[in-house]
Amino acid sequence: MSWLDIFSYVRDYLFPPICLVCGSRETYRREHLICEACIDSISLIRHPFCIHCGKPFLAESDRDHLCGDCLTQKSYLTIVRALGKYEGVLQKLIHQFKYKQQFAVGNILEFLLDGYQKKDINFCSYNFSVPVPLHRSRLRQRGFNQSVLWGKILEKKYNLPLKRMVLQRIVCTPPQIALRGKERKNNVRNAFKVKNSELVNGKTILLLDDVYTTGATMNECARVLKKAGAFRVDGFVIARAG
Ligand SMILES: [Zn+2]
Ligand SMILES: [Zn+2]
Repeated sequence: MSWLDIFSYVRDYLFPPICLVCGSRETYRREHLICEACIDSISLIRHPFCIHCGKPFLAESDRDHLCGDCLTQKSYLTIVRALGKYEGVLQKLIHQFKYKQQFAVGNILEFLLDGYQKKDINFCSYNFSVPVPLHRSRLRQRGFNQSVLWGKILEKKYNLPLKRMVLQRIVCTPPQIALRGKERKNNVRNAFKVKNSELVNGKTILLLDDVYTTGATMNECARVLKKAGAFRVDGFVIARAG
């Protein structure tokens, strides 16, 4: 038994490890800081889904096609993909980011990415990723930006450079959560600015956010990036609501 083994044994005896999500000690996986039951309950997005926005369809035998929303709405994003559904354990994990559990959650997300069907997003095909920014005042209040943390995980895992200063949030808009469809669109209209268009001109960009709901925020960011000369903007989020 090495000193490291003895140290781990004593540490686990004094501070028994518990699952980050449910607090269970059973079937706990130390390498992922979560129990088997929790990790198994996460629904990753699988085919069939909307070829544009990635919305999953219920019928398993169905082929990928455009969803009703994408048939009628204009989007500046070429495709949007999500790691999983915004529900249950994944929803809790995203909230855990707020309680200074960034390292532990990052570790779990990295593990989940292994099970994600990467052919849907080719991380090597982007020049860099851009996180949806928070307004300065909200960043000060919260202390971190979840989209930046997401970008750091992808940078580490896939060598995808993260450019956090490309896009700026110039208006501190009310949270989207209390608003509906059209109000969400209006709320974020002209809320973002590209700091230096030379950085985005002709580039293929992966836009990152933690949660995708109606897509109004990401679409507005993509609009501004395209206007500044970006060649293509795709979106990748941790979780998709609906
Ligand atoms: Zn658990
Ligand atoms: Zn769609």
